[in-house]
Amino acid sequence: MAKKFLVTGGAGFIGSAVVRKLVRDTSHDVLVVDKLTYAGNLESLAPVANSPRYSFEHADIADAGRMRAVIARYQPDVIMHLAAESHVDRSIDGPGEFVQTNVVGTYVLLQAALEYWRGLPAERQSGFRFHHISTDEVFGSLGEEGLFHEEYPYQPNSPYSASKAASDHLVRAWFHTFGLPALITNCSNNYGPYHFPEKLIPLMILNALEGKPLPVYGKGENVRDWLFVDDHAQALILVAEKGVPGESYNIGGRNEHTNIDVVRKICALVDEMAPDPDLGARERLITYVADRPGHDLRYAIDASKIERELGWRPAETFESGLRKTVRWYLDNRAWWERVRSGVYQGQRLGVAV
Ligand code: NAD
Repeated sequence: MAKKFLVTGGAGFIGSAVVRKLVRDTSHDVLVVDKLTYAGNLESLAPVANSPRYSFEHADIADAGRMRAVIARYQPDVIMHLAAESHVDRSIDGPGEFVQTNVVGTYVLLQAALEYWRGLPAERQSGFRFHHISTDEVFGSLGEEGLFHEEYPYQPNSPYSASKAASDHLVRAWFHTFGLPALITNCSNNYGPYHFPEKLIPLMILNALEGKPLPVYGKGENVRDWLFVDDHAQALILVAEKGVPGESYNIGGRNEHTNIDVVRKICALVDEMAPDPDLGARERLITYVADRPGHDLRYAIDASKIERELGWRPAETFESGLRKTVRWYLDNRAWWERVRSGVYQGQRLGVAV
């Protein structure tokens, strides 16, 4: 049955992938609510902007009056909450914005959703969902062994992960205390098209293409569990449609790689797809730089609950997803050249000294 989805942060990397999928692959209507910070980009929504099932509202989730008015007017069946400050390095340079959007903004949105939900007729109340999108970083750092499962204790280490952990706790409390039908998903690192080039994978692809140094933090031994963004978007829609309120679901691709391994794979793909005889092998551009303060060693997700209970499986392996991603950056120069010529030009962030 077609539903009305209100998607916060829909102009960001993951939010725009969700919105493109909702419009292309489902019959649901979508309203994007986004403040359009440096990370929000309407060009990422251009492929679906002409759909009559898509609309956009330029607003801050921390603006209580606006949130109440937007929700009352749109009458959503589902609120998917992705709006956030999302870059760990920026949270080291300026944690205040992270507390404001991720903690205060989530509180404001929960209150507006609760007021709206309480006023719905009983049959619409039971179908309503507040879906909070979060990260595996709330669980802290793993040693060499083990996986994050849904019951894993929260041990956030960065201002970013602490602000996301706080927002997860608020969502959980609004379910238990007020009965708001809320769900939480915690996902591993995403990569794919339309990714803002301050994050590891797009930064390395673009620097490799342009023959610039490839800065690897520390010794490059930190391990991340990578998931192609469209596989995450698919999982999120499944959870919004079929997940059980009060539950949380971990999402990950069983794709653990050290950062240096990821950078080497990117170099090989860029060498193959965009050879440059003057540059030679891109691996020569790898430069080791000072580590991120408090850099978590390893994240890895146990995704067996969402696989077992909701039948989700990622479609891409790391190899196929990374190849698609490099191809997309080669074919979409206009998108990233505009981003690189603007607010962020590839400089180092989050050194904390
Ligand atoms: P992003 O930084 O690319 O996009 C965030 C979006 O939120 C932007 O469009 C921005 O304009 C918007 N926004 C920021 N502050 C806002 C505010 N106050 N009001 C309204 N809109 C605001 O982030 P992303 O990588 O797409 O991540 C989306 C969500 O998924 C975040 O909640 C993040 O914590 C979570 N997450 C991300 C990853 C990842 O690997 N990127 C992994 C797991 C979970």
